[in-house]
Amino acid sequence: MKYILIIGDGMADDPLPELGGRTPLEACRKPFFDSLSRRGVLGLAQTIPEGFPPGSDTAIMSIFGCDPAKYFSGRAPLELAASGGVMPEGGAAYRCNMVALGGDETLPFAEKVMLSHSAGSIEGAESDELIKWLFDNPEFAPMAKAAGMSVLPGSSFRHLAVQADADLAGIVLAPPHDHLDEPIGPILPRGNGNAKALLALMEKANELLEHHPINEKRRAEGKLPANGIWFWAEGKGAKLPDFAGRFGADGGVVSAVPLCHGIAVLVGLTPVSVPTATGEWDTDYEAKTAAALDILKGHDFAAIHLEGPDEATHNHDLEHKIYSVECLSERVAKPLCEALRARGEDFRLLILSDHRTFMRNGAHGATPVPFMIYDSRELRPGSGLPYSEKNGEAGPFLESGTGLMPLLFSE
Ligand SMILES: [Zn+2]
Repeated sequence: MKYILIIGDGMADDPLPELGGRTPLEACRKPFFDSLSRRGVLGLAQTIPEGFPPGSDTAIMSIFGCDPAKYFSGRAPLELAASGGVMPEGGAAYRCNMVALGGDETLPFAEKVMLSHSAGSIEGAESDELIKWLFDNPEFAPMAKAAGMSVLPGSSFRHLAVQADADLAGIVLAPPHDHLDEPIGPILPRGNGNAKALLALMEKANELLEHHPINEKRRAEGKLPANGIWFWAEGKGAKLPDFAGRFGADGGVVSAVPLCHGIAVLVGLTPVSVPTATGEWDTDYEAKTAAALDILKGHDFAAIHLEGPDEATHNHDLEHKIYSVECLSERVAKPLCEALRARGEDFRLLILSDHRTFMRNGAHGATPVPFMIYDSRELRPGSGLPYSEKNGEAGPFLESGTGLMPLLFSE
């Protein structure tokens, strides 16, 4: 028996007036997803535990069977584990996004606006060049050193920063993707002395990056500049329970985002990267599917995570949110199942959205998400319903996302 998990990041949503009161899941063409859902179990799961901000970090941890209330200590330490980076004793890790800040450059820093949490989905090479230049800059480097801050370039908008002797008590850092088009004043670092040091670094970075030649070139090409850095997702350490020990299967996790790879590493699964994956709607769906099938040749568990629907939603791009869900159904799930059948393998497949991401405001939501579990042996009657948020209400309700893996591995 093979066990497969497919996560369409942020694909669940709420009904939208521009779709005639339907959600993107209801409006898109995904015959394969719907056939699995009709013949499988369709339900709802509360993947975001009460009291936690909705995000892929807590949602995907709970999907992998780790209760965030017990194990979550920030997103950046998970990503640090993925990068092979080392957490210094007493130190902390932060995400250090490249962001695009708007507003006249004479405006006070706090009055600038968060135009993009990803600097317009900046390409990895440009992003790495900018962050290295910044941390080597003679004005910035001494400030970073004084704060004990170093950077690990992330080859996308997602860099990591590691701080020695970090004080996180009372600190408040905001996820930039939840505050798009808002002035940054109310979401700047606050809460303790360390927050002031982070804020000073962010302000100086904006001043120095504003007219960097790469940003002038980006503007000339009609792209958003990467004229800011944003610290968030802070945390100190991370340890997660062993996946194979709990569920009796080992394997790998195919993803383009460091968070998923970090969770994989910490639960003892193999992180798998696909060079042509982008973490966006234009990713290489076929290559990701092939990578999962490759894992399943020698192991019993494979996960595929697709970030496309989430990023499209953050970018207010309904067309490509729908497109990426359709690809996930017809270009990932379908060929994957057909290949396993051709190999003569029985399989159980869990498909879900880790959390909702709302087209109406580009932010994550904490309401339950629809999940489906399909067993290739089709031992029991299925739900009879296509895969959607509303139809999930008719099936079982899991109060915690940590119930999903036991359900996938139950026979
Ligand atoms: Zn997101």
